[in-house]
Amino acid sequence: MGNGEKKTIQLPYSQSVRELAALLNARAVDVIKLLMSNGVIASINQQVDYDTSAVVATELGFEPQPIQEVTVEEELGEIPLWRRVILEEDPKNLEKRPPVVTILGHVDHGKTTLLDAIRHTDVAGGEAGGITQHIGAYQITHKNRLITFLDTPGHAAFSSMRARGAQGADIVILVVAADDGVMSQTKEAINHAKAAQVPIIVALNKIDRPEANPDRVKRELADAGLQPDEWEGDTFVVPVSAKKKIGLDDLLETVLLVEDNLTILANPKGKCIGTVVEAKLDKTTGPMATLLVQNGSLAVGDTVVAGEATGKIKAMFDQRQKRVSKVGPSTPVMVMGLTALPEAGDLFQVVANEREGRAIVAERRAAREAKRSTKRATLEEAFQRYKAGEAKELRLILKADVQGSLEPIVNSLDELNKKHADINVKVLHAETGNVTESDVMLAAASDAVVLGFDVDADVASRRVAEAEGVSIRLYKIIYRLLEDVEKALQGLLEPEMVEKVIGRASVLATFKVSKGGTAAGCRIAFGEIRRNSNVHVVRGTEVITTAEVSTIKREKEEVRDVREGMECGITLKGFEEFAIGDVLECFVMEKFGG
Ligand code: GDP
Repeated sequence: MGNGEKKTIQLPYSQSVRELAALLNARAVDVIKLLMSNGVIASINQQVDYDTSAVVATELGFEPQPIQEVTVEEELGEIPLWRRVILEEDPKNLEKRPPVVTILGHVDHGKTTLLDAIRHTDVAGGEAGGITQHIGAYQITHKNRLITFLDTPGHAAFSSMRARGAQGADIVILVVAADDGVMSQTKEAINHAKAAQVPIIVALNKIDRPEANPDRVKRELADAGLQPDEWEGDTFVVPVSAKKKIGLDDLLETVLLVEDNLTILANPKGKCIGTVVEAKLDKTTGPMATLLVQNGSLAVGDTVVAGEATGKIKAMFDQRQKRVSKVGPSTPVMVMGLTALPEAGDLFQVVANEREGRAIVAERRAAREAKRSTKRATLEEAFQRYKAGEAKELRLILKADVQGSLEPIVNSLDELNKKHADINVKVLHAETGNVTESDVMLAAASDAVVLGFDVDADVASRRVAEAEGVSIRLYKIIYRLLEDVEKALQGLLEPEMVEKVIGRASVLATFKVSKGGTAAGCRIAFGEIRRNSNVHVVRGTEVITTAEVSTIKREKEEVRDVREGMECGITLKGFEEFAIGDVLECFVMEKFGG
């Protein structure tokens, strides 16, 4: 290769041969040949680790370096993109906008009750508007000034969600129960708010309770880095009772006071950008998303990209379900017209046209896929790292149906530890119940593998596992579970087959078909559905059955597959009890890591 200076190249922890070739600007065949000459036989989709890639890179004249993986905290520690957009605006175009407030706090400290209580302080709004619709965010008027509240607690199931809640806001109200004090999620919320550089107001809730001990809680707050203003600090601590509606005016007054010190600005005529607050599939209108505009204005007819969804806005509704045609900064609106569901916390922006929208979405998908291939924790990979000395232990997260099965598993794993002196299996977390999102998040964060005994993995957990590249293995026989762990420790485990979701369809109607039986009238929300492939029928958060696709019909014609945005009739082998609102999730089995 070239002479002179070697070019440095950053290589991930693991990647496929194809990706490596692209990174090195070489043909895949040449990379495969180089690998072979170094004694490694690998196909184009096979994963190669850093050390192996580094050898190839060096031979091709590069100076390899490992990529420093960006942690979630670092990623979130940055100023959010929407705020950077505002900072880049010409100051003379900036105008005041209402503050966006999010309520965070430990579970049961009263977030939901407080949000409801604040919503009801808006007497004027109540009179004018009839029933307010829950769209994930609402605006109230206090002293003739608008304040926007993000209603995130409902779906703030895991911490990255809460982190993003803080990212979308100008002010955080931290709810701390006066009878309970600063708890783990209180501290987590403080960290998120600080990372996003958002000021915190403390709502010292439940002061009506006889057990309330405000002084103790203030000391705890001071210890956690929030010095109360009455003690010469700069954190406002407002005593309230969300239940008895005490102190709510003071709290809103404080929000306005903090706002006055912040001058919250945006350019209503600038580039339109904001945050997805909530998204759900509506039976009749398809994907509906609540978007919070943070800069610029959003109008019907605009094309938006939100996370991995795109589309032209067909209609917009405010929190009272009234149609609106254009909204400015700090306003939440529910939009219709996206072709897929974005995720809460995703950024959205207006783009020039649908073609640009689709191109951006394709890029994001590719980037996510690439990231996924570098971040994985399969049982066999975890073992590889363990063996290579990178990991000191094989980490497991165990879920079982009952305590009575958890104990023997943990004990047997201990036995394994004793049997093999050089082996260290560590159970990070053992609990009864189905595999949940938070188990998978924990596994992703700690490079652990999730093992379940006689339990299911709920839909959300499977989605997160897919996105984070975490492996979930479910067993019905304890012996098999232990056998797999032992095999993994000996490096003998067969590569695991995992489900890869290739498409989702929502059931909009059901109808009888001529041959007898029932078909589901579907719209493909994302990806594709193929004949003869398998689908999970998902109702709510549960997989009620898994069956093979028997026929797919478009306008009376039988077809082999259907793609995103299309409508069709689907029948399954051995299942007809469809209900409107069910989701068909089409998947293929593939070897983890390709
Ligand atoms: P979240 O988990 O933070 O959303 O908490 P919730 O709003 O669901 O409240 C948890 C429990 O505390 C509920 O039973 C509420 O009725 C109760 N609660 C909330 N605020 C107050 C309050 O100011 N005083 C009293 N006594 N109870 C409250």
